[in-house]
Amino acid sequence: MTTLTPVALSGLAVRVWEGSLTRCFTSGVDIRVCTILVEMHHKTPGFLRKGVHRCKDKWGGFSMEQALVVENLKKSYGKFEALHGISFEVAPGEIFALIGPNGAGKTTALRIVATILQPTSGTAHVYGMDVQKDAARIREIISYLPEEAGAYKNLTGLGYLSFMAELFASDSAVQREYVQRASDITGLGERLRDKIGTYSKGMTRKLLLSRGVMTRPKLAIIDEPTGGLDVGAAIDIRQLIRRTTAEGMAVLLSSHNMLEVEYLSDRVAIIDKGTIHDVGTPQGLKDKYGKANLEEVFVQVVKQ
Ligand code: ATP
Repeated sequence: MTTLTPVALSGLAVRVWEGSLTRCFTSGVDIRVCTILVEMHHKTPGFLRKGVHRCKDKWGGFSMEQALVVENLKKSYGKFEALHGISFEVAPGEIFALIGPNGAGKTTALRIVATILQPTSGTAHVYGMDVQKDAARIREIISYLPEEAGAYKNLTGLGYLSFMAELFASDSAVQREYVQRASDITGLGERLRDKIGTYSKGMTRKLLLSRGVMTRPKLAIIDEPTGGLDVGAAIDIRQLIRRTTAEGMAVLLSSHNMLEVEYLSDRVAIIDKGTIHDVGTPQGLKDKYGKANLEEVFVQVVKQ
C-alpha cells in the first residue's frame, strides 16, 4: 500500500493508505462511503485504527461524520458568561479531552453535550443530532458520568448493574448481556457480590464507568474520570476507557490532570475561563510550543 502525504482530516493528524480506500457513491447525495486506515499521532507509534466513515465531496475536502460537533457554544449563568463561544469536534472512536483549571467551563460544556443543560447560544450536534431539538434521541446513544456520581450503597455491585441494565434493556436476554459485559469490564470479580457501601472510591468509579459503557454508547461523556483516585485505580480506569474505545465508542472527557490527559487522549482542547485556546494531539501541542509535557504547554498557552 502506498502512503499518501499526511493530510489534515477534521483536525486529526492522519496518514491515509491509498490501497485501503473503497468508495461507494450514494446517488443524489454528495456523500461517499470510504474505509480508511488512520494512523493517529498517538502515544503508541504505529497505533492503527480502522474506521468506516461517511465522507463528503472529494479528497482534501471531505470530513468524517463526527461523533460530536460543537460550534460557538456560549453559556451564561445570569450575567456571568461561563463559556464564551467554544468550538471543537470529536471523531468516532476518538478520546477527546477538555483540559483546564477549576472553573474553566469543562463541566458546563459536558453537561450541555449530555443534554442536561441548555446553552445560551451556539450549537452542539451528536452524530448529527441537535442537543436542544433531539435530546431524547441523543440520550439513547450517549452515556454521561458526572464527577460526583454515586451508586446505591445498599445494593451489591451486581444488584446495581442488574438494576441499571433493566432500565436500558429491551428484554431479559439483553439485560443479562449488559450485566455480563459490565461485570467483565469492572474487573471486580467476586467483590461484585458485596455491597457498594464497602467499596473503595476506585472500585465505585470502575462500577459506574462499566455501567456507563455496558449499553455500548456511541459517545461516552466522562467528567474527571479519575478525580480523587490513587495511582493504581487511576491506571485501571484509564485502561478501562482505552479498551472500550477500541470498539469505536467516542469519549469526551474533562480533566485537570495533564499527565492523565497526555496518556489517555487522542486530542485535547486547552480551555481556560470559558475560552478554548488551542486544540491538538498531545504530541502535536508539545511540538508546536516546544515543551516537554502538556503542563508546560498549558502554562504557555494560557499566558499568551
Ligand atoms: P472544575 O474543574 O472545578 O469542575 P469546570 O472547569 O468544570 O471546573 P464549571 O463547573 O463548568 O468549570 O464552571 C465554570 C464557571 O461557571 C465557574 O466560574 C462556575 O462557578 C460557574 N458556574 C457553574 N455552574 C454554575 C451555576 N449553576 N450557577 C452559577 N455559576 C455557575
